[in-house]
Amino acid sequence: PASRAHFPLTPLYECSIFTRLFSDPTGANDHNFIGPYPADEPAFVDAETGTTVSRVQLKRLALEFGWALSKPERIEGKKAPRTSRGDVVLLYSPNSLAYPMVLLGAIAAGLCCSLANSAYTAGELAFQYTDSKPKTILTTVEGFAVVREMFEKVLRVGWEEWKTKVIIIPDDFEWAGGKPAPKTPVSREFDALLKMEEMLGIGALVEEEKFDGKLTHETAFMCYSSGTTGNPKGVETTHQNATSLMDMSFHISPYIPGVDSSLAILPFYHIFAVIFNVLYSVYRGIKCVIMPRFDPVQYCANIERYRISLSMVVPPVLVVLARHPAVDQYDLSSIKWLWSGAAPLGASLQAQVKKRLLSKRKPGSVLYIAQGYGLTETTSSSHIMPLSAEGTKLGSVGVILPNLHARLIDPEHEGNDAQAIDVKPGQPGEIWIKGPSVMKGYLNNPTATRNTLTSDGYLKTGDIAIRDEEGFYFIVDRKKELIKYKGFQVAPAELESILLSHPEVADAAVIGVEDVVEATELPRAYVTHAKPAKISSRKSRAAFEKSVVKWMESKVAKHKYLRGGVVVIDAIPKSASGKIIRRDLRELAKKESNTA
Ligand code: AMP
Repeated sequence: PASRAHFPLTPLYECSIFTRLFSDPTGANDHNFIGPYPADEPAFVDAETGTTVSRVQLKRLALEFGWALSKPERIEGKKAPRTSRGDVVLLYSPNSLAYPMVLLGAIAAGLCCSLANSAYTAGELAFQYTDSKPKTILTTVEGFAVVREMFEKVLRVGWEEWKTKVIIIPDDFEWAGGKPAPKTPVSREFDALLKMEEMLGIGALVEEEKFDGKLTHETAFMCYSSGTTGNPKGVETTHQNATSLMDMSFHISPYIPGVDSSLAILPFYHIFAVIFNVLYSVYRGIKCVIMPRFDPVQYCANIERYRISLSMVVPPVLVVLARHPAVDQYDLSSIKWLWSGAAPLGASLQAQVKKRLLSKRKPGSVLYIAQGYGLTETTSSSHIMPLSAEGTKLGSVGVILPNLHARLIDPEHEGNDAQAIDVKPGQPGEIWIKGPSVMKGYLNNPTATRNTLTSDGYLKTGDIAIRDEEGFYFIVDRKKELIKYKGFQVAPAELESILLSHPEVADAAVIGVEDVVEATELPRAYVTHAKPAKISSRKSRAAFEKSVVKWMESKVAKHKYLRGGVVVIDAIPKSASGKIIRRDLRELAKKESNTA
């Protein structure tokens, strides 16, 4: 295809993520360098306190924590974790300075990290815990309250029976500066828990576990994704997936002068942030300033304070940059590159942000706003807008990364993969992707893996795209059921099964409805009532619909709230085989919004 002509194949390395980040594969630099960058330069900064961890500190802390996770049996008289290569550890924490060190420590020890959404309720966490079967849980004091609820209320096992060890990650950062660590407060009742500060400085791995050659296909971490259908599944991302993605991305958007700091606001458990905030920052020697969550005013204040040049964002963050008054109160002139992903970025929003930010700058000032496209299953981006083409193909997600190959398949195709037909040039087709950054499969779920990966290695994305004659892709539709609220995944199947546990709901289907102002989709439920006579008046029906919205808020994390509302209908449209016909519901939603 024409797109491959843009970027020739890039050389890939067969080693672990840790080796790729912290050694120099070219062998050109001496021990004062970590990777190809000076060792004492800041790797991560806590936005609030300004506490900094240098590259050499990060490596040492990760090797110490990796040692503590895998080697000792006792620390300060307490039973300590002893995990073996390949064991799973579950990381349940909001963004913090400790996060990259914990993740890299687990990777150094050869463990597989199951990354959980830090906003999960106890019920949602129980699902991922039961599915990924971790030996150890790594969480914060706040997260521990939810972990405890998960064990006691959802899984119904008492404290004494917990088989899993829990390590509390500090939410202050004194330890990183080498000062004595204040004790993280955890109730006396749980004194048997380990605190991370106590585990550091006792020993260290001499070197990381090696994943050379074929071993590079072992799983390093798992983010959860519902894929094209059903409940969230553990996406097995290998060392090769992650290192190749970084090498391929670097190839497509090489060094830009002055791009030396990024501001991290995306949640670190999502693939976009794992790769581009946590790993890629180290890979490229970019200082990464970490915010615990997105806040419009703090975001602008931190761009000014840290002279940020790069930020990975989702379209709703660009809505803020287009409209929020804070943009006028702070100096955002250092920003050179806004990289949008995880959801569609409209051409007009892109233009609005560019106009507003550039209006305050000297003529000729550099500002790239470019989007990428990808999935958890492709280790984040499979397509990126090359900066050389930015501004020329508005609405495009760019070209395919080198070393990947894409097909566009007739969207009506169902069944035998071998008979799938490529669409004619310029026609919309489902994107199928093959290459080194395509996941190994879904954890313990061979059926879902078989339904998603073809026998010759293509990932069926469920997204519909058009490729222009120069190889630029435009995402035009989605074939799969997935809903994206501000870049977060919402799996309709998961909400539908929760709705079916509501005593008055007989049947349910969830779809996404568009919110143009916020540049996102909103989950909406169509339901039928178990006793329709009970809601025969307009008032009682509206009250019931509202009550279901509220009820859902007690069950799930915020991004899954039914912000698109609940609507009672007579029957959920279904095919002869009982499958929900979502297309009909989308049509219905469109009609409703036209008449509203
Ligand atoms: P996730 O696995 O959470 O990254 O979600 C992947 C899905 O997000 C893709 O399959 C697309 O449906 C959607 N997506 C990601 N990036 C874009 C984009 N630039 N434009 C349109 N949809 C996108």
